[in-house]
Amino acid sequence: VQEKLDLLKQNTHHTVNSLLDTQALELAAKVDVKIANGETIGLLEGIPFGIKDVYMVQGTYTTASSDLLKNYKSAYTATAIQKLLDAGAIPLVKENCDSFGHGSSSENTIFGAVKNAINPDLVGGGSSGGSAVNVAKGYTVFSIGGDTGGSVRQPAGYNNIYGLKPTYGRISRFGLMAYASSTDCVGPLAKSIEDIRIVLNVMSGKDIKDQTTYASAEIKDESISNSEGIKTIGYFKNFIESDAIDAQVKSDFLVSIEKIKAKGIEVKALDFFEANTLVSTYYTLAMAETASNLSRLDGTNYGERIESGNLKETYSVTRSENFSEESKRRIVGGNQVLSQGFSDEIYLKGLALRDQISENFENDFKEVDIILSPVTPSTPPKIGDSLKDPHAMYLSDAYTVGFSLGQLPTLTVPQGTATGLQISAAKNNDELVLKFANFLK
Ligand code: GLN
Repeated sequence: VQEKLDLLKQNTHHTVNSLLDTQALELAAKVDVKIANGETIGLLEGIPFGIKDVYMVQGTYTTASSDLLKNYKSAYTATAIQKLLDAGAIPLVKENCDSFGHGSSSENTIFGAVKNAINPDLVGGGSSGGSAVNVAKGYTVFSIGGDTGGSVRQPAGYNNIYGLKPTYGRISRFGLMAYASSTDCVGPLAKSIEDIRIVLNVMSGKDIKDQTTYASAEIKDESISNSEGIKTIGYFKNFIESDAIDAQVKSDFLVSIEKIKAKGIEVKALDFFEANTLVSTYYTLAMAETASNLSRLDGTNYGERIESGNLKETYSVTRSENFSEESKRRIVGGNQVLSQGFSDEIYLKGLALRDQISENFENDFKEVDIILSPVTPSTPPKIGDSLKDPHAMYLSDAYTVGFSLGQLPTLTVPQGTATGLQISAAKNNDELVLKFANFLK
């Protein structure tokens, strides 16, 4: 714990604060005493972990890497985090990310861009960039990110580690700052499938404080270490044939497909929605939801208040000065698609498309057990480049957002292409995803 805290202090670009210092050392000392007394300890007891700075942890700052909440202290602890604390895991840091989860590079933050763990000239990915880099560098054993449209899977891929977006509702969102509530998922990042499995089991389960949660059975080690139930996999033809895919990512993916065939698995090429449709549907809905979710941040109950003349002006100045350009773009866009005259044409159309996307997945999973995809069409950009073109940044999410809209369990594994492979299964079948990851190893 001490060693990791020291490393975190020297590498602050992926850390928001290490407020948890003294507490962490005290907790670690207690575990040492238990071990010295010959007591048996739990699987997660004494294991240091990191937390994306969008989770409430009572008494710590939860800034969402934003000016708006830079002095906000959590009054309570998120359910998922509380379960880890109860299991004896030791929280070390709140981690740098794109502000409010808005971004794909972890550059949209007041704490400075997160640097990629493999090549520090490149972005760490986002929005859970700090969490991915901390795990990849070994500063935390696992970290808890948040994935709305790819924010766990893409940085995991950019930093060569595992990152899971579980089925929507498997883990409680209570205490996770809301970005787009209908796709927000709590997701672990780690260096092994085993660690992902353990952490997922601890955090899963029904929570009365999040009515979208459901009860799920524990995923046992034995049940993911065989290949039962994996007969047919599919991939989206149009993802791989697109002009936007990097040539190397494409050829690596096709080599992975051949290797899978050689293991006796049937592979089907499937039809799917175009990247443009997926990205527009996701961003329409995500912007609409974030516009509503962030409306409470007006400097009255929450946020750095900037007094200015009357109340209305105070709201306006508080929000204009404290939200990032990217967050403002989304709030304005979200309010526009929700407003009279636009909502039928844009927002309702987005909802209808989302239903079609979900239906498409349901039909696919009648034919295949797993859908495999590259995590991203291209490799991580240089720090500074992606902020210049927001539209290009949105398009870089083309392969992750569909699985979010479908609320499917999807795991990034650090193999197959430069930014990894995404393994997806039908809703609630997180077990099969982990099993297939084991099978691919
Ligand atoms: N990059 C996507 C977005 O900006 C996904 C972010 C996320 O999952 N939080 O919306």
